[in-house]
Amino acid sequence: MAITKDTSAPPPPANALRKLTRELSARLQRGINLAEERFEEITRTAPYIWSVPSCSGEKTYTVDLKHGTCDCPDRPPAPEKCKHISAAAYVKAKTATCSGCSERVRHRDLHEVGDDNLTFFEGDLVCEGCALDHGVL
Ligand SMILES: [Zn+2]
Ligand SMILES: [Zn+2]
Repeated sequence: MAITKDTSAPPPPANALRKLTRELSARLQRGINLAEERFEEITRTAPYIWSVPSCSGEKTYTVDLKHGTCDCPDRPPAPEKCKHISAAAYVKAKTATCSGCSERVRHRDLHEVGDDNLTFFEGDLVCEGCALDHGVL
């Protein structure tokens, strides 16, 4: 399976937007860093609702990706989002739900089901464990 990597950098912004964009991307980058450092701890607890640890790991915040809200004290002015929202969105984009066990798994650890499997539909994505259990591999 192909591994997709985000290597494309955004184009340089126009003068008026440069400062805002720089602040936006700094916060976004902090969210991505948080997501990569604590990937396993960022979990979906209900539809659209994600549990995201603070950078120190001492607290856990609740992010609502449907409404774009977070219960942390950081309230950046719109259109900025706090890093927990960015982190949750990042993990969501990097993962998919296993058709077998319903765990969220990184795309690169998922296996696509072929047309000859008796348990899953063709094109379903399953984790390594489910793939081994049901003859996908
Ligand atoms: Zn937050
Ligand atoms: Zn699974």
